[in-house]
Amino acid sequence: MTTLSVADSIADPIASEELLAVLRRYWGYDSFRPLQREAMEAIQAGRDSVVVLPTGGGKSLCFQAPSLVSEGLALVVSPLISLMKDQVDALRTSGVAAAALHSALEPRERDRVLDDLRQRRLKLLYTSPERLVGENGEILQRQVEAAGLRFVAIDEAHCISHWGHDFRPEYRLLGRLRERFPGVSLHAFTATATPRVQRDIVTALGLRTPEVLVGSFDRPNLIYRVWRRGTVYRQVLEVVKRHANEAGIVYCISRREVEALAERLQSEGHRALPYHAGLADEVRHKNQDAFANERVDVIVATVAFGMGIDRSNVRYVVHAGAPKSVEHYQQEAGRAGRDGLEADCILIYSPADIMKWRRLFALSALDAGAAVSAEGRDTEAQDTQLRQIERYAASTTCRHKTLVEHFGQGFSSTDCGACDRCLGELEGVEDATVLAQKILSGVARVREGFGAGHVIDVLRGKRTDKVVDRGHHELSTFGLLVDYSIEELRGYIEQLGEQGLLHTEGDRYPILRLTGEGRRLLRGEITCALVRQKAPPAKDRANRHGTPQRKGPSDTAGWEGVDRELFEALRAERLAIARERGLPPYVIFHDSTLRDLARRKPGTAAELLEVRGVGARKAEELGDRFLSVIRVFGH
Ligand code: ADP
Ligand code: ZN
Repeated sequence: MTTLSVADSIADPIASEELLAVLRRYWGYDSFRPLQREAMEAIQAGRDSVVVLPTGGGKSLCFQAPSLVSEGLALVVSPLISLMKDQVDALRTSGVAAAALHSALEPRERDRVLDDLRQRRLKLLYTSPERLVGENGEILQRQVEAAGLRFVAIDEAHCISHWGHDFRPEYRLLGRLRERFPGVSLHAFTATATPRVQRDIVTALGLRTPEVLVGSFDRPNLIYRVWRRGTVYRQVLEVVKRHANEAGIVYCISRREVEALAERLQSEGHRALPYHAGLADEVRHKNQDAFANERVDVIVATVAFGMGIDRSNVRYVVHAGAPKSVEHYQQEAGRAGRDGLEADCILIYSPADIMKWRRLFALSALDAGAAVSAEGRDTEAQDTQLRQIERYAASTTCRHKTLVEHFGQGFSSTDCGACDRCLGELEGVEDATVLAQKILSGVARVREGFGAGHVIDVLRGKRTDKVVDRGHHELSTFGLLVDYSIEELRGYIEQLGEQGLLHTEGDRYPILRLTGEGRRLLRGEITCALVRQKAPPAKDRANRHGTPQRKGPSDTAGWEGVDRELFEALRAERLAIARERGLPPYVIFHDSTLRDLARRKPGTAAELLEVRGVGARKAEELGDRFLSVIRVFGH
């Protein structure tokens, strides 16, 4: 295997020119994203490849553009019907002859696709692994062969590997392609970084000295934050309000939490819907469609939600519960900002979540019959992954750096300008040791027999039934920290836990106890530091969006110079067009294109074509409508 970096690429200037022309004409883009050119040239050269680029890195263009440069058919294998539909809709809107074959087609539609295929009218055909290499795969194999199959692109290729986060048995069968089509090159695309998954892909597909292209895993436009969990609903609401009218995903661990949170958001007047595996199929689809079609802004979901979602203008992803692993976090948070524009990724963290996951894993291991030794290994792996999440949450270094290094890549910048650490959103607490002593003595005075909730009630001087019953309102620590909120005190208790001054015992009703170190702190033999979140910035409107001024290679200038009113008017026009055509709005134009329109305010068709994301077909079909909006609102 060879790994190529941008620096030592072997660009073929002529091929590049052709590809660029296609990029301009169909997509309205004037340059390649990192590694796109190399990935496209591997296809043009007929050389097998594995391309690993983060979500939003522009993987689909890597196989779409080459299909338009040469004769023959490109076959794209995709795991989900919704993904196929999205891409095919987007391609057709840009004037590319693409189609999909899947089980949701009406017989008439299917016949038309097969007819187009026979007549060699298609450049790209999307299909599922089952259909291509499953039991009756031979039929389709003959059809694509007859249609002049040139290369096969395998999207979401990590589904091949047990080590990926989304293993699909039917993907394993794709190994048959090599033998069946020895002369056709195979190209695997994934956002999953681990070398193990990459090796699995190469072996399972039987790739021959593939070009392996691994991009940077940093997502510079994502702003990472970790908040200690207080009243989770209020914290989520704060984010949702800050992003009024913008798309967001809120992840919860359990279905029950999903339902409760979705209801509360609705009751506050937000357009939110739930999504989890316990809902009837049709409800799930309906809710997912409502989100894709911008009829709702917020989806509250378990991790079951995501893979079929291509809405590119998701402006925030909040985790109201901790994800299972850093890989999952990267994947889930990565659904924000696929359009390259800034987006917020907030993990609302509590160590209680980690305990919750441990319990869930233990239960499912029991279910699966933990006697099998492989299961034992799984539990160990799961435990390691949970510890990595704990480490990410507690980390005092840059979040971008922590994430990128987790995936084995280096990160040189010392100030990313897009995480809570680098933005200085945490500050040291004055007299931390004294505060810690007060909290620890609160634990000691209730004889180390109660949980955090009760200790906090006593410290805040709350006469709850339990407090009075136990006579704890007579303790010297009663009301000692009356000015602190529950959230604050919880946060400090967690920090004391992380620093080994306190520990919790018991799973179902965890109680707080002092450690040896904690006793030393109480006696004044050692000191400690505590941090707190500064009041969240970016409350005011001007600051609302591009909170940080990115120093990194972000795609656009954010909201700089954008006429907001015009942007909203263009958005409304986009929505109207989408409704007329029965398509999701992001298929018409991305938000980045709308912003660019609202920044440059083109007046003529020629000026319109200068805007990034406006290709020839869209300019011709939709240009007038957007131009007239600009004429009316753009002053
Ligand atoms: P991935 O499949 O890697 O998650 P996509 O292929 O969906 O990413 O691309 C993400 C976004 O970036 C899409 O909106 C796409 O149109 C856009 N994009 C891709 N390539 C370019 C490019 N060369 N210039 C500008 N935008 C691009
Ligand atoms: Zn940072």
